[in-house]
Amino acid sequence: MNNLSKNYINGQWVDWSGDTIDVHEGTKGEVIAKVPSSDRAAMEQAIDAADAAFESWSETPLDQRIKVLKQLHEGLQKRAPEIAQAVAREVGMPIKLAGMIQAGMPMKVTETYLDMLPDYPFAEQSGNSEVQYAPVGVVGCITPWNYPLHQVILKVVPALAAGCTIVLKPSEVSPQSAFILAEILDESDLPKGVFNMVCGLGQEVGDTLIKHPKVRMVSFTGSTRTGHLIAHAAADDFKRIALEMGGKSASVILPDADLEAAVKGSFMNCLMNSGQTCTALTRMVVHKDQHDQACEIAGAIANGVKLGDPMDENTRLGPLASADQRDKVRDYIKLGIEEGATLVAGGAEAPEGLEDGYFVKPTVFGNVDPNSRIAQEEIFGPVLCIIPYETEEEAIRIANGTAYGLSGAVWSGDQDKAKKLAGKMRTGQVFVNGGAFNPLAPFGGFGHSGIGREFGKWGLEEFLEVRALQL
Ligand code: NAD
Repeated sequence: MNNLSKNYINGQWVDWSGDTIDVHEGTKGEVIAKVPSSDRAAMEQAIDAADAAFESWSETPLDQRIKVLKQLHEGLQKRAPEIAQAVAREVGMPIKLAGMIQAGMPMKVTETYLDMLPDYPFAEQSGNSEVQYAPVGVVGCITPWNYPLHQVILKVVPALAAGCTIVLKPSEVSPQSAFILAEILDESDLPKGVFNMVCGLGQEVGDTLIKHPKVRMVSFTGSTRTGHLIAHAAADDFKRIALEMGGKSASVILPDADLEAAVKGSFMNCLMNSGQTCTALTRMVVHKDQHDQACEIAGAIANGVKLGDPMDENTRLGPLASADQRDKVRDYIKLGIEEGATLVAGGAEAPEGLEDGYFVKPTVFGNVDPNSRIAQEEIFGPVLCIIPYETEEEAIRIANGTAYGLSGAVWSGDQDKAKKLAGKMRTGQVFVNGGAFNPLAPFGGFGHSGIGREFGKWGLEEFLEVRALQL
C-alpha cells in the first residue's frame, strides 16, 4: 500500500494535504496508518468523475466488464496475504481466520459472480415487450469496519457487472484493504472514473455522497442509526437504497436438540471476530430446564478462549477494532449486571495482561430478560445473552421480539421440525442445525436490519433498473 495518503479519483491517485485520520491496531492501541480525512470538495470531484464515466461504462459489453472482474480476482489472489495482515491488525481478527474470511470471502464472492454473469439474462421477452435490465447510474458505496473488504466487494463487483459507476467511502476505522482494492483496479483495464474512492468521515464526505443529486443509488452496510440518516436523505431525491444494517440474532434450541453441539455452535458464531459480526447469534433461547446446563457449557467455552494479539497464531480471540467500541461493549456488560442478568463468565474489567489494548472478556449472561436492553440492543462485542423459555410459541415470540431481523438459528433433533420452526423466524437467513453459510444464497435483513439483498443474482439486481420496450 503506497497510496494511503491519497484518494483515488478519475483513474488517478490524488494527493491529500489536509487533515488525516489515525488507524489503530487493537493490541496496544498503536497508530499503524494515517488516511485522508477528505473534504466535501474531494468527494464532489469523485462524484463528477463517476458521472462522466457512466454513459460509456453502461454501454460497455458484458464480456469487457467480466474481463475486468477477472483481473480484480487475480489481484485479490495475489495480494491475499497482505489483505489478511492489514485487516487482522486494524479489526483484530486472528490472522489465520482473517486469511480465510477477510481475504478469502472477497475472492469467493467475486468467483460466484464470474460463474453467474456470462449466463445472466440482461434482457428477456415478455409478450410483445423486450424487458431490459439497465444500470441504475452512479452508486455511492458506504461500508463499515468489521469485514471491510468483504463488504466493499459485495457492492463493487455486482455494481461494476451491472454497468454502474462507483464512488466508495470505506470505513475510516479499517480503510487499508480498500486502498489495496483501488490499487488492483488501477492496474486493471477499468476505464478511468468508473471506480473512485474517497476516504474520510461519515458526517463529512459520507454526507456529501448520500445527498448528491448525481448519485442515483446508495448501497450501505453499517449501523441502523446511519442507515436511518441515509434513508431520509435518499427520500428527498428518490434515490435507490440498499441497506445492510445491525442485528440481534437469536439461536433457538429445542429440548430435543444436541444441547452441547447447539450451545457450542451458537456461541462460537457469537464470538466470531470478537462479536463484531452483524449476524452474530447473540441471544441464545433455551428451554428453562436446560438453561443452567447451557450456561455451564457456554461459561466453560468463554473461560477457555485464548485472548491476545491477532498476529499470534495461537490467539483465538483478538481485540475489538477501536477504543470506542471496547468502551461501549464494557458499558453494556455493566448495564447487564445492573439489569439483573446473571453474570456466568467474563465481565467488564480488562483481561489480565491485556490492559493496554481494545480487549473485552468473552462474557456470558444467564437468566436474561428478553425485554432488557442487553437483549434488545446490538452490543457488537463478545457478549452472549441466554434467555429461558417455557413453550415453543414463547421461544419464537422471544426470537422475533426485537426491531431487528438479520439472522437466526434453530436446533432440533428432528430436521423437519427445525425447518418448520425456521419458517417462523422473521429474519433474512436462518441456520438450521448448524447448516453452512452459502455465498450463493441471498443475504439481508427484515425490519430494522435492512432493505434489499446482497450476494448472487439478488445482489446484482439491486443495481439494475427495468425498462420495457413495447414492440
Ligand atoms: P456506522 O454506521 O457507524 O458506519 C458505517 C459507515 O457509514 C462508515 O463508513 C461511516 O463513516 C459511514 N457514516 C457514518 N455516519 C454517516 C453519515 N452521517 N452519512 C454518511 N455516512 C456515514 O457502522 P460501523 O460502526 O462502521 O459498523 C458496525 C455496524 O454495521 C453494526 O451495526 C453492524 O451490525 C453493521 N453491519 C451490518 C452488516 C449487514 O450486512 N447487515 C454487515 C456488517 C456490519
